[in-house]
Amino acid sequence: MLNPHPPTPATPFGIYVHVPFCAAKCPYCDFYSGRETSLLPAYVDAVKEELRTLERARDFADRSLFLRPLASVYFGGGTPSLLPAEALAGILRTVKETYRPQPDAEITVEVNPTMENKEAWFSSAAEAGVNRVSVGLQSAVPAERKALGRRGTAEDVKETVFAAQGAGIRNISVDLMLGIPGQTPETLRASMDFVLSLGVTHVSAYILKIEPGTVFEKRKEKLDLPDEDAVAEMYLYMCEYLKAQGMRHYEISNFCFGDAIGRHNFSYWQCGEYLGVGPAAHSFLNGRRFFYERDLAGFIAGAAPVDDGPGGDRDEVFLLTLRTDTGVCLPEFEKRFSFTLSPAFYRTVETYEAHGLVTYNAGRLCLTAQGFLLSNSIISALLAEF
Ligand code: SF4
Repeated sequence: MLNPHPPTPATPFGIYVHVPFCAAKCPYCDFYSGRETSLLPAYVDAVKEELRTLERARDFADRSLFLRPLASVYFGGGTPSLLPAEALAGILRTVKETYRPQPDAEITVEVNPTMENKEAWFSSAAEAGVNRVSVGLQSAVPAERKALGRRGTAEDVKETVFAAQGAGIRNISVDLMLGIPGQTPETLRASMDFVLSLGVTHVSAYILKIEPGTVFEKRKEKLDLPDEDAVAEMYLYMCEYLKAQGMRHYEISNFCFGDAIGRHNFSYWQCGEYLGVGPAAHSFLNGRRFFYERDLAGFIAGAAPVDDGPGGDRDEVFLLTLRTDTGVCLPEFEKRFSFTLSPAFYRTVETYEAHGLVTYNAGRLCLTAQGFLLSNSIISALLAEF
């Protein structure tokens, strides 16, 4: 069932820019990125051109997008901090000249701690409007960093965070990873304490997945990976520990102090709309999903994105919003999609509630931390009872 409330000219949206360059490939990573930095100037020109004209995405997006409120811009990758500061500022200038950013629009850049000239780079980025930074740490423990093939040290991460803060960027997220070869609750605690000592506002923590086609997949048998139960235990420990430090666990993998949620990503979980630009970037506009191929040269040459079917239907809204701590208000959800949830659905909710996997209060259904761990199977079972 499609979303019965399509976007209006007042519906905010976000822009995602995929920066497909990395100085080296981490052995566990399957994000689209390569080392052809000689193509960086042509890539930047192509991104700016596409933002200005929407020519490549003309089958999906029209110029009415230029008039809608722009709530967030997110540079992800890849390694956006490989963009020279002037190139980043140039893209942001194009965004501001073409779209209507809200006065408080969130502008995030993912950065790698091995970046050079940190102070100057952040100062230019802040001047260009960047007000949020996401830094990849994964682990503060040297042996775990080595096992992950991460370049740089925890000290580099500290310098990066301090340089961003020194440039006036206060909204800073640090990435952690769970399930690293050799990781234990004690080493995880050391990484969390390191992050908390930096005065950041946000933590994202992802469980390591062995992705097809990665070096880790080929070496899987030789990796000293913690087993599933150990990872689950560490996840629950992390949730409790960060909560005890005053953080809000607002999405399966995301924590923040105060109201410092990642607004761009939060909008994905609310089934909000976004335009993704760059090779491998995905978009969701006017009820349709589409993406650019993982092909840098093709993107530069003007290749159009590929249709990925309709989006924003009833099931998708349910499964995305249940990832967040505000969950789904069932009466509102029924009203929005004009249907009635079945008695079997509510019986399943009761069973999960009895097992401590969901809470159901005043019509609002939320997953607990244990429920987040099993979210895929819980959500599938609930959808099956609609
Ligand atoms: S730096 Fe980030 S995007 Fe690049 S290979 Fe490593 S994990 Fe992947």
